[in-house]
Amino acid sequence: MRVLVTGGAGFIGAHYTRGLLNGEYPGSEGAEVTVLDKLTYAGNLANLPVGHPRLRFVHGDITDRELLERELPGHDAVVHFAAESHVDRSITGASAFVETNIVGTQCLADVCVSAGVSPFVYVSTDEVYGSIPHGAWDESCPLAPNSPYAASKAGGELMARAYWRTHGLDVRITRCSNNYGPYQHVEKLIPLFVTHLLSGRPVPLYGDGGNVREWMHVRDHCAAVHLVTVAGKAGDVYNIGGDTALSNREVTERIIRLCDADWSQVRYVPDRRGHDRRYALDASRIREELGFVPRIGFDEGLAEVVRWYRDNPAWWKPLENAPASG
Ligand code: NAD
Repeated sequence: MRVLVTGGAGFIGAHYTRGLLNGEYPGSEGAEVTVLDKLTYAGNLANLPVGHPRLRFVHGDITDRELLERELPGHDAVVHFAAESHVDRSITGASAFVETNIVGTQCLADVCVSAGVSPFVYVSTDEVYGSIPHGAWDESCPLAPNSPYAASKAGGELMARAYWRTHGLDVRITRCSNNYGPYQHVEKLIPLFVTHLLSGRPVPLYGDGGNVREWMHVRDHCAAVHLVTVAGKAGDVYNIGGDTALSNREVTERIIRLCDADWSQVRYVPDRRGHDRRYALDASRIREELGFVPRIGFDEGLAEVVRWYRDNPAWWKPLENAPASG
């Protein structure tokens, strides 16, 4: 199979690309992969096995229609990870989010139609639902995004869906909870806290630390995305949830323990504007229809992540100019 992966030099896209090349997912043995990536501050060629005989890297922007018309034909699937992905950056400047996450998605869907390439898998997020005080969202719940990031992801989803209804493009949408794992940019909560604590620096905890998120190991997320790519249904949406719901305070406590640090290194900082209090997914559809079960428990996965950042300072030290976040 020939797969075009957008955003494949970023955190999740690179894990997915390596998984494809290693034949980790059923049906991916011998896969040929084209990674299309703009290499923004979040893209990093060091995340990829550059030089692998079945990997082709194309440096480019998903809003560049001519490039897409050249590169897309001949692929058996497009798995679309490319995005501006950091909520804090969307609060200080939302235009790039609209440009890449909505306009870029429309451009890709459009060229998928004209080039006859599908399925088109749009990798979305649980953040499109907004915030939920109790219970959990299933895929039929309304979208009520609260940050410009989440709104732009919801806009991309709606655009993709419209290409399914209007043009018959085989579009499949996934909505996953927070990911963690090696190679995640140090601007995101877990790597930010791990790298700061490992080097003896304080960490900023938003508000009262009571915001609740579900956590999914990136390798489990990628396995689920691949299942949707090979076995999902056109027009369907799949929640991908891990059942590990923790407050930011609870995540911080675990990181502190693993880094041999202590609570005195935590600084409470004013809450993020529009900060969603709680996310919770009902992920029964992907479990019942596609048989997806996450394999990596949070405590085991987090310990691996701390070890990875401890062992790989040469990867993360150059990224440290990113603004602090949670
Ligand atoms: P990331 O920021 O690490 O990587 C994004 C990649 O997209 C980078 O390599 C960047 O260079 C590339 N890119 C950005 N704009 C581009 C453009 N215009 N054209 C081509 N490439 C471009 O993001 P991530 O954390 O790996 O997230 C990947 C996808 O998964 C995103 O769509 C995100 O919304 C979604 N998602 C992320 C999480 C999470 O916790 N990280 C959870 C659920 C869903």
